[in-house]
Amino acid sequence: MSDELHDLYQEVILDHSRSPRNFRRLETANRVAQGHNPLCGDNIALYLEIEGERVKDVGFQGSGCAISKASASILTEAVKGHTTAELRQMFARVHDLVTRGEASGEDLGKLAVFAGVHRFPARVKCAMLAWHAALAALDGQKQPVSTENPAE
Ligand code: ZN
Repeated sequence: MSDELHDLYQEVILDHSRSPRNFRRLETANRVAQGHNPLCGDNIALYLEIEGERVKDVGFQGSGCAISKASASILTEAVKGHTTAELRQMFARVHDLVTRGEASGEDLGKLAVFAGVHRFPARVKCAMLAWHAALAALDGQKQPVSTENPAE
């Protein structure tokens, strides 16, 4: 990765962690899940409003490190308006990206900012927390999802 790209990614992550998008309890949500990353102390509640097969609206609340917050914030922007099947595909591609540094398929858009995370294995769980919570919400999982025991 070039230094310039690295700086840009860094900037996007900082921006999203400082002013997270869709950072609210979603009153219209019909799927909710809690996520917890005990290694870092990240906690998140993820709210989805699913209408038919589509993510009509999404929100999150919680506290944690910059990576976990930025990841949740970017997730909300990425999945809104997409189908639940697309959300599952995005999960798989983001997982590839943060564990291997690359993902196949079309342009990942802003999700690509997490490409650098694979060089910091301890941070992978921070980046994936919101995604685990999103899948748990989709699957109607009642127990909080933990990165130490992810529902995969
Ligand atoms: Zn974290």
